[in-house]
Amino acid sequence: MTSRRPVPDESLYDVLGVAARASPAEIRAAYLSAARRHHPDKQQPGASPALDGHMPRITHAYGVLSVPSARAEYDATLKRREQAALAASTSVRISAEVDIDAFELVASADDVQEQAAQLRFKLDCRCGSAYVVELRELEAGHDLVGCSGCSLVIRVLLDAPDGAET
Ligand SMILES: [Zn+2]
Repeated sequence: MTSRRPVPDESLYDVLGVAARASPAEIRAAYLSAARRHHPDKQQPGASPALDGHMPRITHAYGVLSVPSARAEYDATLKRREQAALAASTSVRISAEVDIDAFELVASADDVQEQAAQLRFKLDCRCGSAYVVELRELEAGHDLVGCSGCSLVIRVLLDAPDGAET
């Protein structure tokens, strides 16, 4: 028996119990601590069988989040999922509409060709965190961007290419 309800969209960060912005050291510490708690060898006799399924999920979560490239890919997936949830929600309060020109262009890759594919824009939020969005997300019609540090959501106005009249 367990008091935990199944959470279908539980993230790998949730599995480890860390924040989405946790450092590699924090992720490792959370993994070791979770592994200690859930490892089958450490279970007390008669311990809740509900815990049995945890170790593979914890190991999988750590396996992804401990590899920078895998984590980046997972973060992108997570972000798309959040975007979809945002878009599906009618109760989203959009705090502002901001022209893309107000954003700072951030290079997300060293390789020039990759840069072109991964143009990323950043705008500081008043909470001290920032809104970050990739050009291809905008082009895919995902114009709602949530701040990574607070609950504010803004709509990004992707204007016409240079040379178009205003
Ligand atoms: Zn914020």
